[in-house]
Formats: sequence, C-alpha cells, structure tokens
Amino acid sequence: MEKLDQIPLETILMSTLSTFTSHQLSDLTLYFSSLHHRHHRRIFSLLSSPMLFSLTLHHLHSLSLHNKSLLIAKHLLSKLAIFTHFMHNDTILPPPSTTSMKHRDLDAVLLLLLLCELRQHDPEALDLPPSRWRVVICQYIAKDALKFSSISCSNREIIMKFIDLLAKCKNFVNAMIHAGDGIGGKDRKEVATSIAVVVALPSIEASNDNDGRKECVICKEEMKEGRDVCKLPCHHTFHWICILPWLKKRNTCPCCRYQLPSDDVYAEIQRLWEVVAKMSDSANFVGISNCN
Ligand SMILES: [Zn+2]
Ligand SMILES: [Zn+2]
Repeated sequence: MEKLDQIPLETILMSTLSTFTSHQLSDLTLYFSSLHHRHHRRIFSLLSSPMLFSLTLHHLHSLSLHNKSLLIAKHLLSKLAIFTHFMHNDTILPPPSTTSMKHRDLDAVLLLLLLCELRQHDPEALDLPPSRWRVVICQYIAKDALKFSSISCSNREIIMKFIDLLAKCKNFVNAMIHAGDGIGGKDRKEVATSIAVVVALPSIEASNDNDGRKECVICKEEMKEGRDVCKLPCHHTFHWICILPWLKKRNTCPCCRYQLPSDDVYAEIQRLWEVVAKMSDSANFVGISNCN
C-alpha cells in the first residue's frame, strides 16, 4: 500500500467520494452548494465595498502567522466535518453548523485564500501596494468569470469545487505543520475529548448475559449487573467514574483506541482526515477485488 502522504489529496477525496450513495452525494451537493453561494455573497460584498475590503485586509494583517493558519485550519475543519457527516449516516454529532465562524473571520479567510490563489496564478500580482489589491483581485475574477460564477454550476462542478477547496486547505495546513509553526506536528499529542461529546455519551445498564462477567478495563473491576455504565461509540463500556477522568486527558477508547472528537482544531483535522483516508482505502480495496 502506498504511504498516505504520497497519494495526492484529491485522489484520496475522490475515491472516498466514490463510496457515497447517490442519496449521500445529493445531500452533500445541496449542502455545499448553499455554502458556496454564501461564500460568494461574502466575497462580492467584500470586493464591492472599499471600506469593508480595507477593514478585512487590516484584520488579516493584524493576525500572526499562527492565527492565520488557525483560521484556515478552522475553515478546513468545518468542510471536513461536512464531508464526514454525509459519509456516515450514523454520526453521533448533529449536522455541522456553517455559521460557527464570525463574519469578520469568514471574510478574512475567504480573502486570504483568494490572495493565495492570486499569488499562485501571478506571483507578482501582490507586489503592488495593498491599497491596489482590491482592484487587482476584481480584475483577476473578471478574467476568469466562469470559474467564479456561482449560478451556472452543475452538481459535478460544485462537488469538484468542494474537493478542490478541501485539498487546497489541507495542503496549506500540512505545509504549516511541516514548517513547524508549533502546531499539531507529526507526533500526535494527547488531547481531551470534546466536552460536548462527553456530555452526550449514553448511559446503559451493565448486563452480563452474553459473555459472562464484564470488567471495566480501567479499574479491572466488574461492572455489576444493573448498574449504569458509560458506552462509547465503539460499543465498549466502562464505569462512569473511571472513564470521565480518562476522557478529560485523552480522546481514545482505552480498549480499541477508537478516536472521539476533541476541541483541538489540528487534532480534529487529523482525526477526520484519517476517517476519510480509511474510507478511501476500503474503496480502493473493493475496486481491486472487483478486478480479480
Ligand atoms: Zn472501572
Ligand atoms: Zn472501544
């Protein structure tokens, strides 16, 4: 098997997408389409108002490199959360909210991505003083009006835009991690489980009917029949009093290392990306066995 970081991100995303049912695909398209329109409206109001543009640019300039990375990472995370939400129908979380980012931050991240794209297209475009950037971006967009139009998109084009956005943000975040911005890093650090997820964990009555006596692997003591115990999404059960301090420090199941959501942006990106990559692997495996 090829190493994960040698496969182009778009390939991983596309093969994961190939596992979607037509129903999942149309839900994702619909959801992303409305998001895409919303982002367009933000970009156009930004570009049509010199005042808003300069305020947003000022906000962007005031952010440290670390905070700019964090902004893109949050943007990526919200899109990855949408992707994985539609990938599993059995997710324990409600549909991800698209309004979690403040307007000012959303404008800043959209402008930042646009500036990155413009620089890639023309490395000298941003040598001009920042007061000219709004006009330069408008010219760039006008030249490629079709690419930026949001009305005449087919479903396929919308999905491709989504894949493109995910890959672009993921590449940016990877580059920031490799540059050693003190974020994430290659070594997985331990992070706490998201409080919202811990609060929502179900309580079930311990039962010993099938496989005899059940013990809690944390304290090695029996979970007495009829007592309320905590059930993780991987179906492993523990005494509440044992699992709560555990989840305060880690986001993995003590039995099987199943990863629960955390509130750390970079750890979450890594967790969701692994979920996507795993699905992509299984899609390739099915593809290969079908050929034989
Ligand atoms: Zn216990
Ligand atoms: Zn488990």
